[in-house]
Amino acid sequence: MAEDKILRLILGDQLNEKHSWFQKPDPAVTYAMMEIRQETDYVKHHVQKVMAFFAAMRAFAEKLKKKGHAVIYLRLDDTKNQQTIEGNLQRMLKERQFARFEYLLPDEYRLDVELGKVAKTLSVSWAAVDTEHFFTQRQDLQDFFSGKKRYVMESFYRRMRKKHDILMDGDKPLGGRWNFDVENRRRYDGRVPIPKPKLFRNDVKDLHQMIERSGVKTIGTIDPQNLIWPINHSQSQTLLSAFLKHGLKEFGTYQDAMTTESWSLFHARISFALNTKMLHPLEVIDAAIRTWEKKQRSIKIQQIEGFVRQILGWREYMRGIYWALMPKLGHVNFFNHKAALPEYYWTGQTKMQCMRAALGQSLEHAYAHHIQRLMVTGNFALLAGVHPDQVDEWYLGVYIDAVQWVELPNTRAMSQWADGGLVATKPYVSSANYINKMSDYCSQCAYHRQKPYGEASCPFNCLFWDFFKRHQPKLQNNPRIGLMYRTWNRKDPKEQKRILKQAESYKRKLDSL
Ligand SMILES: Cc1cc2nc3c(=O)[nH]c(=O)nc-3n(C[C@H](O)[C@H](O)[C@H](O)COP(=O)(O)OP(=O)(O)OC[C@H]3O[C@@H](n4cnc5c(N)ncnc54)[C@H](O)[C@@H]3O)c2cc1C
Ligand code: SF4
Repeated sequence: MAEDKILRLILGDQLNEKHSWFQKPDPAVTYAMMEIRQETDYVKHHVQKVMAFFAAMRAFAEKLKKKGHAVIYLRLDDTKNQQTIEGNLQRMLKERQFARFEYLLPDEYRLDVELGKVAKTLSVSWAAVDTEHFFTQRQDLQDFFSGKKRYVMESFYRRMRKKHDILMDGDKPLGGRWNFDVENRRRYDGRVPIPKPKLFRNDVKDLHQMIERSGVKTIGTIDPQNLIWPINHSQSQTLLSAFLKHGLKEFGTYQDAMTTESWSLFHARISFALNTKMLHPLEVIDAAIRTWEKKQRSIKIQQIEGFVRQILGWREYMRGIYWALMPKLGHVNFFNHKAALPEYYWTGQTKMQCMRAALGQSLEHAYAHHIQRLMVTGNFALLAGVHPDQVDEWYLGVYIDAVQWVELPNTRAMSQWADGGLVATKPYVSSANYINKMSDYCSQCAYHRQKPYGEASCPFNCLFWDFFKRHQPKLQNNPRIGLMYRTWNRKDPKEQKRILKQAESYKRKLDSL
């Protein structure tokens, strides 16, 4: 056995070319990357997601090779491919007689457990190494909130701003406030044109044929000659630059807006590039602040603060929540919801315009922006009482950026309140009122947004009241919800009865709404 031979594993979401591992080729080191059924099949993924991950992995391997690194890249259809990480590792270690194994710490609990177990069975020495991607370590958030009942994002975010000296003026927040949210969040009013999304035209025809030949089951659609998502660092930077040039100046203002005019509005669409680590969060924040500093007349502080909060605040916070609450987070079901996810989540075929728009673009582009995920599709699943396992499975499959460490806390905790309120003070549910306030959907809908019951009444309305009524014992003492129960109690009992009857009727035919 050659004493100095090291095998280093790189997972599909660890494409961080700035990592210290890759700074200069080392003749003793060989990198291993693998396309495996274990990862294509643990949930049914959007076809664009499978293509984008594999194309980005292939591009990364090629780049490493060009820089002089030794790489073993296993394609999905390679006859030697064992289709599991463990199987492939054991074979490589044996065949090539490596003396040591190293891997980058996985961000998914599932893979973390698996690799920890595999490593312990090896006859060679091994080590797990940081991915050098996040601002925080896994345990930081847990330590920060130790002994607290709730994990408040805002206090974590302030600490991050101070610690990393981002948008600070000494020890005070730049602009005099930590949070400019109240000035953000307007409905789209046509005042400024929406930028055309920057789309790439990556040809993944061969890869797509391989996937089809291999029988991998996917969801959604793709034009295999024009994959729109970035597959390397340079494309990721181009996408970021396009956002900084065209989107940042209105980012905060229209962050929560929804419109049938555009599927991406002023959003950055960099989550895939970030989650695969092709982009580094510090690189994104630095570039955004540099742009803002140069253009302070056209880009207001609330836009840059709003954007920085998403990355330095929400993204790191969700990662901390994940590591603090796993593996329990994967099973919680506070409301004991049991309904099946309606079929239209997989087809987009529903008469509800808001749902049709959000689901339709999710299936077409593997993307919906935050408020569509939270206040349309997530809101509806929660109101309808869908089992959180099914909701998770859908979110984990459908989005280009869906990796469990960020999908699960957003879906299970924030959107479905299945953690019983550790992350959010109250469930994110709404009737048609909020959807109409933030979008142009209701004016184009077959349902009437103002009707709480009766023919063509909006399903969100009666299901909203039904949700609060059926969970009254669990929610009535929540100080942020008291007003809701007072409003309900002021309603005429006959009206209450009609609303609840309507909800029952809609729940019975959930699949055909
Ligand atoms: C039910 C649900 C499921 C979600 N699943 C995922 C997921 O699987 N993967 C994922 O990356 N995000 C997820 N999010 C968070 C958020 O919706 C996406 O990060 C965002 O829509 C990505 O699009 P963007 O790059 O255009 O974001 P922008 O709106 O332009 O925001 C910029 C960046 O901020 C970060 N960010 C913003 N909000 C969040 C958040 N709540 N949590 C973590 N990071 C955030 C993202 O990295 C994003 O790229 C989910 C949200 C909900 C409500
Ligand atoms: S009326 Fe109801 S179902 Fe239709 S778009 Fe508005 S909120 Fe959605």
